[in-house]
Amino acid sequence: MPLLERKLPQIQTQMPQLVLIGPPGGGKGTQARKLQHEFLLTQLSTGDMLRAAIAAQTAVGLRAKALMDSGNFVPDDVVIGIVTVAIDKTRYSKNGFILDGFPRTLHQAEALDEMLADRSMGITAAIEIRVPDEMIVSRVDGRYTCARCGEGYHDRFRRPKVAGRCDVCRGGDFIRRPDDNADTVRARLATYHQQTTPLLPYYKDKGVLWVVDGTKSIDEVYSDVRKVVVSTSVG
Ligand code: AMP
Repeated sequence: MPLLERKLPQIQTQMPQLVLIGPPGGGKGTQARKLQHEFLLTQLSTGDMLRAAIAAQTAVGLRAKALMDSGNFVPDDVVIGIVTVAIDKTRYSKNGFILDGFPRTLHQAEALDEMLADRSMGITAAIEIRVPDEMIVSRVDGRYTCARCGEGYHDRFRRPKVAGRCDVCRGGDFIRRPDDNADTVRARLATYHQQTTPLLPYYKDKGVLWVVDGTKSIDEVYSDVRKVVVSTSVG
């Protein structure tokens, strides 16, 4: 029988449509950037989108600024709105996406499921990056990023190889987030436990929850994260 008439085994591939869950400073952004590079996924970080809205002084940015600076959540309707627009932009590209920092409440998770179902899409894996609270404050207090390429650094744990120059793009401007100080981090952690951890049983019940140990090195955490992505994207 000619090859083309023979029934070939079907390989089902599914573009990764991922949710990263974890405390502030738990490494979601770092892991999302690595996934973006390897799997060409679109990183959708609500924190980055809101910071861009603040810089551009849009109505959303003006509404969000004081809440973010004090470590509180921005209202659900605002973040659901910006994520819907962002997902619609990625929808017709062949790439999947990584949601980093969204959903953060049960209401956001339900709205996300509904919005994806309307578009015949769905989350392929929700990955919890688990880090105990006592590690978080020291990780967040002192971190900063390259203003040009977003590479992350830390006053104590990861300084640029050449002082004042980004290792990756050689840029010389760095930014510190106003909410990355010890007091605000404690408030953000409390909000995380109260409002975001209910997402864990929510995704577990749906059979898409995976937990990785976020206390390991960045590369070790990534190796665990990528195993989840590979095993859940090709069936
Ligand atoms: P992040 O960069 O993910 O740590 O987010 C920084 C801040 O943006 C948070 O502390 C919240 O004030 C706000 N924010 C980001 N994502 C959300 C979300 N999904 N729901 C509510 N507030 C958010």
